[in-house]
Amino acid sequence: MAGKISILILAVLFIGSRGFGQGEAKTRAELSGFKSTSDYNDVMSFIANLKSLSKNIRVETMARSTEGRDIPLLIIGKPLPDSPEALLNDPRIVVYVQANIHAGEVEGKEATLMFARDILKEKNSPILDHVILLICPLFNADGNDRISTGNRTDQNGPVNGVGVRYNGQFLDLNRDAMKAESPEVRGLLRNVFNKWDPYIFMDCHTTNGSYHVEPVTFTWMVNPNGDNSLISYLRDKMMPEISEKLLSGYKVENCFYGEFNDMMDPGKGWLMDASEPRYMVNYFGLRNRLGILNENYVYADFRSRVMGCYHLLYSLLDYATANYTEIKSLIAAADRRTISRGINSIKADSFAVEYNVREAVKKVTIKTYEAEMVSDSGPRKIYMRTDRQKTVTVPYFIDYYPVRKTGLPFAYLLTVNDQEVDELLKTHGIVLEKLAEDTRLEAEKFEITELHGAARLNQGHYYNTVKGTYTTSDVNFKEGTIVIRMAQPLANVAAYLLEPESGDGLLAWNFLDRYLVPQWGRGFNPYPVCKIMNYTTLKTIPFL
Ligand SMILES: [Zn+2]
Repeated sequence: MAGKISILILAVLFIGSRGFGQGEAKTRAELSGFKSTSDYNDVMSFIANLKSLSKNIRVETMARSTEGRDIPLLIIGKPLPDSPEALLNDPRIVVYVQANIHAGEVEGKEATLMFARDILKEKNSPILDHVILLICPLFNADGNDRISTGNRTDQNGPVNGVGVRYNGQFLDLNRDAMKAESPEVRGLLRNVFNKWDPYIFMDCHTTNGSYHVEPVTFTWMVNPNGDNSLISYLRDKMMPEISEKLLSGYKVENCFYGEFNDMMDPGKGWLMDASEPRYMVNYFGLRNRLGILNENYVYADFRSRVMGCYHLLYSLLDYATANYTEIKSLIAAADRRTISRGINSIKADSFAVEYNVREAVKKVTIKTYEAEMVSDSGPRKIYMRTDRQKTVTVPYFIDYYPVRKTGLPFAYLLTVNDQEVDELLKTHGIVLEKLAEDTRLEAEKFEITELHGAARLNQGHYYNTVKGTYTTSDVNFKEGTIVIRMAQPLANVAAYLLEPESGDGLLAWNFLDRYLVPQWGRGFNPYPVCKIMNYTTLKTIPFL
């Protein structure tokens, strides 16, 4: 009987969520008192309601998931631009917020929907005077609809369950930014990053690790192969100001994201350990844009996580509104530097094939708890939080710096014809050309001496590591050989994919496996990408 009554109540709530005529649209989280999270149909119905609420929103489809769900992209502007081309001489800045990439981490989904509704309702929001807002509330739609109370059982709500981490292909989308094997990431690259060119991107997650009081944490892109002026800007100005605004303006306690190096000894520091561009936010940094990672605290209750994320969105957009001209000129300067480096490359211009992390000048303050060790015998130490709260100010290990480097070229030349590789480079938005005639050039080649595939599969790959030596010689390149010049804004993405020793490149992720060893005999073939180190006049045609 009790079951029937609760079904009836749910049905009333569900009907109540449709149509603004009966009051404003509410998310499933709001309607359930933050006990449930939205499924795919809830999200799509909510978005349909937003469209009836305001003429300042349009919905595009950014991708179709493996299981056939259209992934919605909300475009909010006042006035709404018809297309990205309409923004050519528009002073507004494009900001993109993405949620639910890990579909067990659901508060960003609820918070972005609420935020979209409320910003559209505001009569005179200064935000929409200066910002075009793009929102994907449900990036991993297939993972989302596997809602079960058996997922993320350590998480403090919603009690009615959440989705799973992986997408419909069993891939972690936040490891797919470089290899782009999923329809979601390919759609993101083509229909958001390349098409709308957002200058700021925030990716919303939930933490897994250390104990603390703050319900909201966030941090910035860290890969040292991006433009370091953008990293410094985030670290020294933008992120501290957003943190301050979130606390003083919106009364949400927050700290920069990380985990304790040793939960039993917080003094050993707070670490941001995800540095590779396979992570969305670091990838965005390689594109010379500002990437922000939001991680809401797993042990905070669901309502606090959603509202914390919601207010972080306001703090971020307030900052973008107040500083949009500064951000635009900073990014334009980074693009100019990247292009001119590609034309006039010098020996000092380099790519970090190995890098390490050191503490930032400024320490971080975390309101943590004393922990007690439960077990340190397994592969992961297990701790338990006590009620003894203590505030610590500790080193923040976030500054990644090169420890081994290789020279950046004037251009890369591909010596094999491979449609999959061409397509991947194009999907990233990298400009490709073809040699218009046979051309003899001094080229640097990478001769492989060791190649090891990982013993254990990772994201469907026996990930490769390689060693080798560089030799320089004159090489005859055939007409039609694919050329990737470094004088382009996405040069850092290109280098990361094409450098043989790159930890997130084509070789590492097995795109080039078939070319690396001879059909008969021992040893290795030369790596099939040559580097032209010096400025050269090349006769080429576009390869679209
Ligand atoms: Zn996550």
